[in-house]
Amino acid sequence: MKSITSVYKIGNGPSSSHTVGPYHAAQIFGGRYPDADAYEVTLYGSLAFTGEGHGTKKAIVSGLPGAKVVFDRDKTDLPHPNTMLFRAFKGGREIAATRIFSIGGGSIRIENEPSEEDKEVYPQKNFSEILSLCNKEQINILQLIYILEGSTLRDYLSKVWRAMQDAVERGLAADGVLPGGLNVVRKAKSLYDTRCYNESSDVTMNRLIAAYAYAVSEENAAENIVVTAPTCGSCGVIPSILYYMQHDRGFPENEILDALAVAGLIGNVIRTNASISGAECGCQAEIGSACSMAAAAVATLYGLSIDQIEYAAEIAMEHNLGLTCDPVNGLVQIPCIERNAVAAMRALSSVNLSRFLYATRKVSFDQVIATMYRTGLDMNEKYRETSHGGLAQIYPEHHAN
Ligand code: SF4
Repeated sequence: MKSITSVYKIGNGPSSSHTVGPYHAAQIFGGRYPDADAYEVTLYGSLAFTGEGHGTKKAIVSGLPGAKVVFDRDKTDLPHPNTMLFRAFKGGREIAATRIFSIGGGSIRIENEPSEEDKEVYPQKNFSEILSLCNKEQINILQLIYILEGSTLRDYLSKVWRAMQDAVERGLAADGVLPGGLNVVRKAKSLYDTRCYNESSDVTMNRLIAAYAYAVSEENAAENIVVTAPTCGSCGVIPSILYYMQHDRGFPENEILDALAVAGLIGNVIRTNASISGAECGCQAEIGSACSMAAAAVATLYGLSIDQIEYAAEIAMEHNLGLTCDPVNGLVQIPCIERNAVAAMRALSSVNLSRFLYATRKVSFDQVIATMYRTGLDMNEKYRETSHGGLAQIYPEHHAN
């Protein structure tokens, strides 16, 4: 398996391939030619057709300030459906031109260059191999991660955690209507501020976690900076729980980073053995994966055993199986934003069950992942991010007038 750093990518929402990948590419290209006095980026293929609505231009300008962005919808002979041509100029003369492909999940590939992301970091292929190695070597899951990833992982996770917290805080401070025409009003701030009469501590916890999940998901819908966890559509689940744990429950930052590392490993196992793409396997692959990762993170924070961590992640995925992807108008708003909050709460319930019942479990994490993948491949295309089925179909019909 590859490094878990490729699970968490910082960039503009709302789409990992249309905004996070291009943002990352723009940053890399700008960093290579800092002396250029002008940049031009041409978008081809899917990026040219849907990039306008998905905020690709904004993402590129955010990663490469001042860049001119051109949409070329005519060129068809492309090496990849999401192709970008970056050009740098000095004194009116072109000094560099590089083609970069946005290959999905926020990952990019630079033409004719080996990719850092291709490096195999984990010899283990699935969770059961991780489990047996940990048991054989008498190490815990965190020790395994840091042995294989090295000390640089910590710095990367700190950056990721800072970006996640920034998204929560920006989202809590914002109000108004989200872009795209659905007239969806931001709700994070009012959820955070509105305490009900005689509110119990359980209700407060759920309200705050929901507020944080809405905050991040609304930032994603507003095309602002978020972290894929593991995708943009599901980016609110993990930050919401970990923000609550640090800021409302007092868990120290170093433990939050450890939890993030274990969540990343769970996302990595899913990505390697199944899919984290709504277009490939429906929302179970996005929100189900985020829920599973969040459950593993919380189980780690609570100091639970590797078996309990695995079971928490398994429960969280098992009860998202079959979840369809049906975003209304293709926008990552309905049902996506609310779904992030519900998944965060479900992750907590999964941890609570696993604490008590892990010794009686029958289904392994690897089995549930295999099930999710098969279910996703069996799913009618209408329910795999095409906006042709489910809420995407029913909702507009009922709001036609
Ligand atoms: S419904 Fe689709 S777009 Fe929305 S979060 Fe789920 S997978 Fe992503």
